Amino acid sequence: MENKMKKIAAVMTAVLAVTASGMFTCPLTAVTASAENRIVVSDEEEEYVGDVDDDFEDEIDEDEDEIEDEDEDEDEEEEKDFPVRVDGVTVIPSHIALRSPVTVKGKVTSDVKITELTAGVYDTSGKLITGKTVKGSAYGFDLKNIDKYILFDSLKDGAYIFRVTAVTADGNSGVLTSQKFTVGSVKTFPSDYDDTDDYTEDDDIESDDDDSESIFDISDETIVPEKLQKGKCFSVKGIITSSEKIYTVTVGVYKTNGKLVTGRTVHPNTKRYDIHEVDKYILFDKLATGEYVYRVTAAGEDGDTEVLTEKNFTVTASVSKSTAKSASPTYIDGILVVNKSYPLPEDYNPGGLTSETQKAFDKMADAAKNDGIKLAICSGFRSYSYQKQLYERYVAENGQKEADTFSARPGHSEHQTGLAIDVNNASSSFDGTPEAKWLEQNCYNYGFIIRYPKGKEDITGYRYESWHIRYLGTEKSVELQKSGLTLEEYLGIDSVYAE
Ligand SMILES: [Zn+2]
Repeated sequence: MENKMKKIAAVMTAVLAVTASGMFTCPLTAVTASAENRIVVSDEEEEYVGDVDDDFEDEIDEDEDEIEDEDEDEDEEEEKDFPVRVDGVTVIPSHIALRSPVTVKGKVTSDVKITELTAGVYDTSGKLITGKTVKGSAYGFDLKNIDKYILFDSLKDGAYIFRVTAVTADGNSGVLTSQKFTVGSVKTFPSDYDDTDDYTEDDDIESDDDDSESIFDISDETIVPEKLQKGKCFSVKGIITSSEKIYTVTVGVYKTNGKLVTGRTVHPNTKRYDIHEVDKYILFDKLATGEYVYRVTAAGEDGDTEVLTEKNFTVTASVSKSTAKSASPTYIDGILVVNKSYPLPEDYNPGGLTSETQKAFDKMADAAKNDGIKLAICSGFRSYSYQKQLYERYVAENGQKEADTFSARPGHSEHQTGLAIDVNNASSSFDGTPEAKWLEQNCYNYGFIIRYPKGKEDITGYRYESWHIRYLGTEKSVELQKSGLTLEEYLGIDSVYAE
């Protein structure tokens, strides 16, 4: 990690030297000098194995040997993916006032053990100003635990990058989030700053004059998710407006070394441009697995290029059905996914409903009670072996084809996650009851979704189940409710048994 940072610093120094002819106005020296007293030195290590909070631990697989064995079985393409991600990470405002505290949050999860994790604020030369490195060995970490070490309120006027990086047991390192922001009187981020450690001179983005205020604005944008499954499309949208005519707009996906992979440059010659017009030229679905940067740039007639949007993302291998069998738990977009395509390992066992799920249900049941509706848990957590018994009984009674429409094969039951609940009465006689109606109309306010809705049988792989709810947390449940999509549609995945 340290070497990498040095490398970034060295590269940035080189870049700055190139652009040093009076163009780069960020007060770098002020930042480096003034930060001395408040730097939290990153070699002050902290074990974080026991530090992961309880709710979180429920969602991670604890069987280390199993995971490690399986990692070796993964195909090469999957090994290239950086297996660590962060969910619910603090979004740093693009500009913060001097001495403003910012609370660092976010849950880091990984398919392989994380041995080192750093969250910190760097200056544009790549120097860590305030932050914390923790070392240990775990599949997850709550950034909240090191919030107190990241002293946003100590930052001087200047341009910074908040970055969370991780190193895994297999020696790979990756950036989980990288967010640029400015502090105090400095309100424009230097646009010739390059986030990547492989900055190359043939980068398409030209250095820009920072003395001038930004003349472009972008709104109503679609933001590329941090992880995009291989083969999935992504639709770009966004309105660029400018006080002057927009001469050039480039929307593209770049490798982290700056090479354009797919994109389009247009010359609108208007003061407003909708980037959706070039959407069909940006072939997200053709991207190989790996790390990318999505970038929107615009230039006026004078040729000065401004970066309007920049987002790092990863294209992950689509989980093929053959590898799905032996897979470790699948998290997509931070959501633990279990369906006919995505099984859980046999020993995945949170030991019951996760405490978050239980709390959310209790809160919902209380609210229902106030409306004169009684909600109770009919079936919550089910272990692999119990599901196996259930499924085998249904197969014996109904035949496998029929059983597959309403009962999950062992390892494929969402009940094994500890995040799913059957409410009151797990049968179609629950359909249309006041309780079922209340549940459908209200559950998303408590973090739940009706997991197998009516009319979506071909997508979810299951018959309508008015009683089966899945906990996602309110942020996601509300988003799904608004979208009207099933979880499969929302994540762009299927639910089909391999055979
Ligand atoms: Zn169920």
